[in-house]
Amino acid sequence: MTRFSAWNVIKNGLSNQKGWDRQWQDCEPKDQYDVVIVGGGIHGLATAYYLAKNHGIKNIAVVEKGWLGGGNAGRNTTIVRSNYFQPGNRQFYEHSLKLWENLSHELNYNVMFSQRGHVSLLHSPSAIDTAARRYNTMRLTGSDAEIWGLKKLKQKIPHLNYNVNARFPIMGAAVQKRAGTARHDAVVWGFARAADQRGVNIIQNCEVIGIKRDKGKIIGLETSRGFINCKKVGFSAAGNTTLLWNMAGLGELPIESHKLQAFVTEPLKPLLDHVVVFGVGGAHFYISQSDKGGLVFGGDLDSYKSYAQRGNLPIVQDVAECATSILPCLGRVRLLRHWSGTCDMSMDGSHFICKTPLKNLYLNAGWNYGGFKAGPSAGWYFADLIANDRPDGVIANHDLKRFERGINIDERGAGPDPKLHG
Ligand SMILES: Cc1cc2nc3c(=O)[nH]c(=O)nc-3n(C[C@H](O)[C@H](O)[C@H](O)COP(=O)(O)OP(=O)(O)OC[C@H]3O[C@@H](n4cnc5c(N)ncnc54)[C@H](O)[C@@H]3O)c2cc1C
Repeated sequence: MTRFSAWNVIKNGLSNQKGWDRQWQDCEPKDQYDVVIVGGGIHGLATAYYLAKNHGIKNIAVVEKGWLGGGNAGRNTTIVRSNYFQPGNRQFYEHSLKLWENLSHELNYNVMFSQRGHVSLLHSPSAIDTAARRYNTMRLTGSDAEIWGLKKLKQKIPHLNYNVNARFPIMGAAVQKRAGTARHDAVVWGFARAADQRGVNIIQNCEVIGIKRDKGKIIGLETSRGFINCKKVGFSAAGNTTLLWNMAGLGELPIESHKLQAFVTEPLKPLLDHVVVFGVGGAHFYISQSDKGGLVFGGDLDSYKSYAQRGNLPIVQDVAECATSILPCLGRVRLLRHWSGTCDMSMDGSHFICKTPLKNLYLNAGWNYGGFKAGPSAGWYFADLIANDRPDGVIANHDLKRFERGINIDERGAGPDPKLHG
């Protein structure tokens, strides 16, 4: 496969772009694989890539019911950060951020990772204290974190609504400078291309429709393109995980599928060069500006469970209200598009990367709003789990039995209600 390099870009520019190869092969499913990953999003593709690269496994397939990145990986607001507090989460997301920092080089694919800084607005002295506790812990455990006062915030982001009579006046911000955004499609394509180069079969339009079991193991997968025998299976299907779990005859999971919408405006001149988060008094809103100029933003979940990839109008109003309350200058900006994804919300807001009741089935799910940033790390640790059949210490508590052991990994302290864990 042709590597991307300055020389190859120039050479192909001079020869009508005729020298590029396919980015990945269009594979027919084989009869048998050592590992089959179900789900061609960022997690499934990253897992396949690290299985091949870190563990030398050769006979791997990723089966995807639609097109690569057609799930949440291609629908999210692309925020990447590691400002997590709970043990396990902190190390996991920091590892992910470090992988992001080198991902374009690693994959030889420009994932457009832009470390523009993640700014969470603070609206009360107690919010500043709470943020200081979290952000000091981050610094003590090797990440970067700052608290900005109002003066600095005004210099950095002048367009915010600093009116002291606002319902929630802005008093400062918690900032992670190494955080930012990336180009979601590029990450998916980059992992797909790099996995394909290492011999992974990527099979699109291949839906898993049944699961054949025998003696506590999976024998193979019924797919829309025929039966595939497999030695090991990994589920990486985000909002559809519970459907696959039922297919495997495993009953219920502590996961609910909820809608989350995202929005983009018409392109504007450069206005915002940070990711800004506004969350207080029931409001929840995050916004950044894409390289094309559109403002990309989102808010809370739609408040009902569903597998459909479309959302509800009340959230449009809710998000527009948040947008104009913190950035009043957006009042006359036109919304270009909005869409929805299906999030796999867990009971405590944290993920599962773990073994399952079936010996050769492994689970990667429960990503809530936040699995895009987790993608590289999830692929790394999920591959490690599948290859070695035991969890690394970092994910040891992220299993399905943690609730039985009395462990909640609840970043928000929101309690056992999936829709509250944004
Ligand atoms: C609107 C929105 C905004 C978000 N914003 C952010 C953000 O800013 N930052 C962040 O970190 N996270 C964010 N997230 C969360 C993040 O997008 C997801 O957690 C992450 O993309 C999950 O990746 P994935 O690869 O596991 O899932 P997906 O990309 O959904 O991949 C799963 C794949 O499995 C396939 N599949 C399902 N069932 C089957 C089957 N039976 N057979 C074969 N294939 C199947 C699906 O088609 C899908 O392509 C957001 C999510 C949404 C919806």
